[in-house]
Amino acid sequence: MKFAIVSKGDDRSNNIMATMRQYLTEFDLEYDKENPELVISVGGDGTLLEAFHRYIHRLNETAFIGVHTGHLGFYADWVPEEVEKLIIEIAKTPFQVVEYPLLEVNIRAKSGGKEDTFLALNEATIKTADGSVVFDVEIKGEHFETFRGDGLCLSTPSGSTAYNKALGGGILHPSLEAFQLTEMASINNRVFRTIGSPLILPKHHTCLLKPLAERSFLITIDHFTETYTNVKSIQCRVAKEKVRFARFRPFPFWNRVRDSFVSEGEKKV
Ligand code: NAP
Repeated sequence: MKFAIVSKGDDRSNNIMATMRQYLTEFDLEYDKENPELVISVGGDGTLLEAFHRYIHRLNETAFIGVHTGHLGFYADWVPEEVEKLIIEIAKTPFQVVEYPLLEVNIRAKSGGKEDTFLALNEATIKTADGSVVFDVEIKGEHFETFRGDGLCLSTPSGSTAYNKALGGGILHPSLEAFQLTEMASINNRVFRTIGSPLILPKHHTCLLKPLAERSFLITIDHFTETYTNVKSIQCRVAKEKVRFARFRPFPFWNRVRDSFVSEGEKKV
């Protein structure tokens, strides 16, 4: 099997990367940075986002796995003390694959021409450095509301524990093929009125944002930001593509949620 490793870049992560590369190569696995079947990220969830975007052109052929060198992660759920065990698992055991949904974002310019299409593993956000954003929000082709405020966040189920959670969004199990729309400080008065609650849209329900005021937008896709002017519309929906994670042991999503946000392990009263 061909593998590649993406490190956060700090000494601890680089050392783990070097150890894993050496041992996996000794087990006759081939290090192939260009065409890996397994990508190991060593660092945090941010490192896995980086690895995902680096190999986004190979989603059908590549599975990801994360080792965390900081605090427990959602995508990085192996600890450094387990690295030897993980190396043996990777070398000896055919892994199971778990697929998570992604968000597709399509940005169209008023001038027409080529659309920009992105895939997000966590979320897309639309903000401006220029006052508030004002959008007509259409859901499944029908006008839903006119949003005015700091911005909107559209998150995947696995991204629901990240920015979305900080905005008061719900946590979605990644087996649900859906995406969530959360508001950032909406202005509500007699002119502008929004639903105020996070919305969870199923697969095939498209959300279309149509800017009503000429603004330059800061559009984030996971950890990177682009500035757009002259935007006609931003369309979001559940992507056809999925991200594939290699699983060597069960680690239920709700256990990860509990261990990250509530308390570690079982609590006996
Ligand atoms: P960062 O600002 O350096 O770190 C963002 C934090 O979010 C890190 O602690 C990261 O974990 C964590 N995180 C990433 N994905 C997560 C997930 N799916 N569930 C729970 N926590 C998650 O930025 P970054 O490392 O480049 O990551 C970009 C992400 O930051 C964005 O996709 C967005 O979700 C998040 N973000 C959050 C807020 C907020 O909560 N107010 C604001 C802006 C951006 P690690 O430490 O393990 O890497």
